[in-house]
Amino acid sequence: MAVSIHPAVDGGVKKGSANFAGGTLTCKCAAAPVTVTLSGNTAFNHVCGCSKCWKPGGATFSQVAVIGRDKLSVSANGNKLKIVDDKAPIQRHACTGCGTHMYGRIENKGHPLHGFDFVHTELSKESGWSEPEFAAFVSSIIESGFPPARMGEVRARLKELGLEPYDCLSPGIMDLIATHTAKAKGTLAA
Ligand SMILES: [Zn+2]
Ligand SMILES: [Zn+2]
Repeated sequence: MAVSIHPAVDGGVKKGSANFAGGTLTCKCAAAPVTVTLSGNTAFNHVCGCSKCWKPGGATFSQVAVIGRDKLSVSANGNKLKIVDDKAPIQRHACTGCGTHMYGRIENKGHPLHGFDFVHTELSKESGWSEPEFAAFVSSIIESGFPPARMGEVRARLKELGLEPYDCLSPGIMDLIATHTAKAKGTLAA
């Protein structure tokens, strides 16, 4: 049996739709769930192996995408949200009832990814969200207890699913971050 990556991709990656206009994320609480409305499609969707991103029970990877922070609003029961770690660069706003992370926000204006919020579109019933394009921080799954001897199997499965495995973010995002850093340092013309 193939190693499980995440329920949203284990059966094959489902393409998003180009003219999808957004939807609502709902936490797992049976009563008074937190909802977050996204007024647009996401970008840079990927599966992530880091130990900080929220993932459903039993999943090896999380699935996470970004959206402009002006396109995200908390639409119900926002009083249940609490920041998981306010020292972390990405402040993850989690539901205190069920533990689901509803969105991650970067407050540091100097951060290369400031302006983007991080969201888990699997919390939405709508379909059409941008599909996962790659796998980030693959080696980090070991930090959550995944057996190192099975990493070859994981990377092979990710490739089979069309999710190129990286041990950082994708080259496109790493280039954006380095460009931001170089412009801030003055080694590249702004
Ligand atoms: Zn909840
Ligand atoms: Zn992550």
